[in-house]
Amino acid sequence: MAAVVACPDCNADVAVAEVAPGYFRGVVNHDDSCPWCAALKRDLR
Ligand SMILES: [Zn+2]
Repeated sequence: MAAVVACPDCNADVAVAEVAPGYFRGVVNHDDSCPWCAALKRDLR
C-alpha cells in the first residue's frame, strides 16, 4: 500500500482520500508557520 509521510517540520496531519475507485490521494495539512509548506507553495506558483 502507499506510504504516506508526514511533514517533518510541522508533523502535519495526513489524510488519505479516495478520489476515484482504487485511486487514493494523500493530503497533508501543514501548519501555517511551516517553512517547508511555504517553500512548496512558492515553488508551485
Ligand atoms: Zn509542514
